[in-house]
Amino acid sequence: MKVKFVERLSNLQCVCCITDKKEVFEKLKIKAETGKTVLVMDGPLPKVLSFCEDSSPENLRKAAASALWKLEETQLEEVKIEVDLKLTSDGAQALAEGLGLGGYAFDKYKNEKKELYVEVAINKDLKPYFNEGVEIAEITNYVRDLVNIPATDAPPEAIAEEALSLREMGAEVKVVMGERLKDLGLVGTWHVGKGSKNPPAFVTIKYKSENPLAKLALVGKGVTFDSGGLSLKPPASMEDMKCDKAGACSILGVAKYLLKKRPNLDVNLYMPLAENLPDGGSYKPGDVIVFRNGVSVEIHSTDAEGRLLLADALIEASTQKKDYLIDVATLTGACMVALGRYTSGLFCTSQTLCDMFLKVSRFTGEKLWPLPLDEDLEKELKTDFADTRNNAKGRYGGAITAALFLKKFVDNKNVKAWAHLDIAGPAFLEGSWKYYKSGATGQPVRTLIKFLELVEAQENRNQQ
Ligand SMILES: [Zn+2]
Repeated sequence: MKVKFVERLSNLQCVCCITDKKEVFEKLKIKAETGKTVLVMDGPLPKVLSFCEDSSPENLRKAAASALWKLEETQLEEVKIEVDLKLTSDGAQALAEGLGLGGYAFDKYKNEKKELYVEVAINKDLKPYFNEGVEIAEITNYVRDLVNIPATDAPPEAIAEEALSLREMGAEVKVVMGERLKDLGLVGTWHVGKGSKNPPAFVTIKYKSENPLAKLALVGKGVTFDSGGLSLKPPASMEDMKCDKAGACSILGVAKYLLKKRPNLDVNLYMPLAENLPDGGSYKPGDVIVFRNGVSVEIHSTDAEGRLLLADALIEASTQKKDYLIDVATLTGACMVALGRYTSGLFCTSQTLCDMFLKVSRFTGEKLWPLPLDEDLEKELKTDFADTRNNAKGRYGGAITAALFLKKFVDNKNVKAWAHLDIAGPAFLEGSWKYYKSGATGQPVRTLIKFLELVEAQENRNQQ
C-alpha cells in the first residue's frame, strides 16, 4: 500500500481518527496504548481509531502508521485523517512523517500495486509544518527505494547516474569511474571494486550557498553488494547485502533536501561506490594498500571493505577546512552486537557535536548511542607489515576498532569535528518496527537533515 496525499478526496470511504481518548478502547476491553487501533461501524462510514498516548513526535508517527496499516486490511481506498489531540508544530510534522513512512511500499517488482488516497484535516496554522513532514517522508522513501533495489539492478554506475540526475536541480556533480580511481589515488574504492565486472565509482556532489554559515562534508558508504569478497560471507549473512549501500543512498537524500531547501551552508557530499565480489582480479588478504595520505593498510579480511572506501572519502573531505565532517555507514556487525538492531553507534571527536546529534535524534526517533574512540584498542590494529591492519586482531569492540581505523584518515588540522555513524542495525529491517515495514528504513537521512537545520540555526544565532 502506497499513500498518496490529496487536498480533497473524490469519494470519501472512511474516517480515521488519531486520538488520546481512552474510552472507546476501554469499552472494547482493548488496552489503550500507542499504536493500538480499532475499526468501528457506528456511523454512516467505517471509522478507524488509532490511540496515541500523547502528542510526542515519535508516538504520533507510530499512531499514524498503525492507522494506515489497519486500513490496509480493508479494501478501502480513500480515507480522511482527523486528529483528536493537541497538536504542536513538531507534532504536525511528525504526523505527516508517520503517514508518509507508514504508507511506504517497495512495489517496483510487484504486480499488485495498491494505493491509498489520504486527505488530512489539519489546522491552517499547522499546515506548513505538516507539509514539511510530507517532504521529509518523501525524501526518506526515495532513500528507501534506492536501498531496496536489488544489487544487480543498482551497481555503482546506476547510483552514480542517480547522483548525476541531481544536476537538473542545480548541483555540481562529479563522477570518477573504473581505472581512473587508481590514477587519482582513490585506492581503497578501486581495490574493493576491482573484483566485480561492475566498475567502482567515486561521486562528489557540491552544494554551495551565497553566504555559508558553516562548511560541512558528508560521506556515505556505498557498497552496492557485499559478498565479503575472497573472505566470503556465509550465505545467510549475504542475503540482505544489497543494503550495504544505505549510507551513500542517505547522502543522496540529503543532497535532494539541500537542493530543495537551499540552506545557508556549504556542503560537500561524497559517495564511494563499489561492489565487493570474489574473482580472479579481487584484492586479497595480505595485500597492502597505500592511501593518498600516506597511511599503508594491510588487508586481513576483504569483508572489512567499507572502511577502505570511507578512507578515500575522508581523505578527500578533509583536504579543505571543514566545521563538521560526518560519515555514515552500515559498517560493522559488531555495532549490532553492542547496541541491537534498532540503534546506530555514534562516534564523535567533540562532545558538542555528539550532543547535537543526540538532540536531533530525540526528535527524529532514529536512535543513536555514543560509543568511545577508545585508544587502548589501537593495538588491535597493529601489524608488522604496514601502518595498520584493515580489521582488528581480536573480535571484541569491532565497531570501535573500525572507528579508530577511520580516524586515521581524518585530517584534524582541517576538520574541527568529526562524527561517524555506524548504521548497520537500523538501516535495514527483517520485520516491521514502529512505522517501518521490513526492508530499508532510510536511516539516518532524517537525522542528517535535522542536524543540518540545527547547524544553520545555531550559526544564525551566533552571528546575531
Ligand atoms: Zn563487508
